Order: sequence, then C-alpha cells, then structure tokens
Amino acid sequence: MYASTQVMPRVWIGCLACYNAGRLVGDWYDGDIADDVTPEDLHGRATSHEELWVMDHDGFCGALEGECSPSAAAEIAQALADLSDDEANAFGAWIALYGDQSELGKWVEQFREDYRGFHDSEADFAREWFEQTSEPDVVAQAQVWPFNEIDWERASVELFTGGFTSEDALGGVHVFFAR
Ligand SMILES: [Zn+2]
Repeated sequence: MYASTQVMPRVWIGCLACYNAGRLVGDWYDGDIADDVTPEDLHGRATSHEELWVMDHDGFCGALEGECSPSAAAEIAQALADLSDDEANAFGAWIALYGDQSELGKWVEQFREDYRGFHDSEADFAREWFEQTSEPDVVAQAQVWPFNEIDWERASVELFTGGFTSEDALGGVHVFFAR
C-alpha cells in the first residue's frame, strides 16, 4: 500500500559568489526544477554572478547527502518523483548502501531491478520467495503438515547470506538483490 503523501524534495539554492563574499543570497525551490533556477532569479535582478549551489535540502529520503550542484539535485528529485513514497524511502536506503550521486538515472533503473519490495520480516520474504519460485505442487505440499512447520526465520538466513540483503525500515524490511 503506497501513501499518496509523498513529500516534494526541496532545495535551498544559493549564489556561490555572494556566499564567498559573506552574504547568503538564495531561496527554497522545488527540487525537480532546481536546474532551471537562474542567478537572476536568486538576486531578483541582472547579475554577473554565475555559479549556484545547493546548500541545504529537505525531503530527499536519504538519497542526497550534503551539498551538490542544482543539476544533480534536480536529477535526484526527478528520480524520486518516479517512485512511490515507500519506494522513495527504499531508494534512499539503497543509494546510501550502493549508489553514488552521479548518474542517478542509471541508479533508478538499477534500483528497480534490485528492489524486491517491503516485507514484514526476512522470514516473511523467504516464504514469499519460496512460493514465487517453486513449482505449484511443491508450494501446495508446503501447506500440509509437516511441511507447513518450516522455520522461515532459519530458512531466510541462507537467502540473506547469499542472494539478498535487507534494510530495516519502519515496521519491516526493504529487500534487495545483493550486489
Ligand atoms: Zn550573488
């Protein structure tokens, strides 16, 4: 179930020349249009100052750390906009683990391939994985005693020391293919 209350990533864009001269000239903008903000927008008039920089940000779900260029912020914000709220949080966790903040478009694709969804627990995922990847008669047999007594927590250990990895999230875990 996805919430429809996704927070729009916001960035505080400042003028570097002003910053270096000891003045804070900047404002908050929606992250996805960070690349469209001009020095004239920031100063409210024509200016010879050219370089803008994202000095603060909000709502990036952990996918953006520290400062960056407006174009990088816009790329991440646009990537997040393609994801649901739950996915965005998973993406943030995943980027912190594996990604870097260049070529985010590529990372979103990779994330979509690797992300195996949100689950109550690793054991819960192990049971689902078994059901999805096993022959129907094997799955049917697993409903019947004594096969229905599988300790999925123990069974999940092998999955999560081999092919999968998980990240704790509120109320469960995000599961990814391990890389
Ligand atoms: Zn300036």
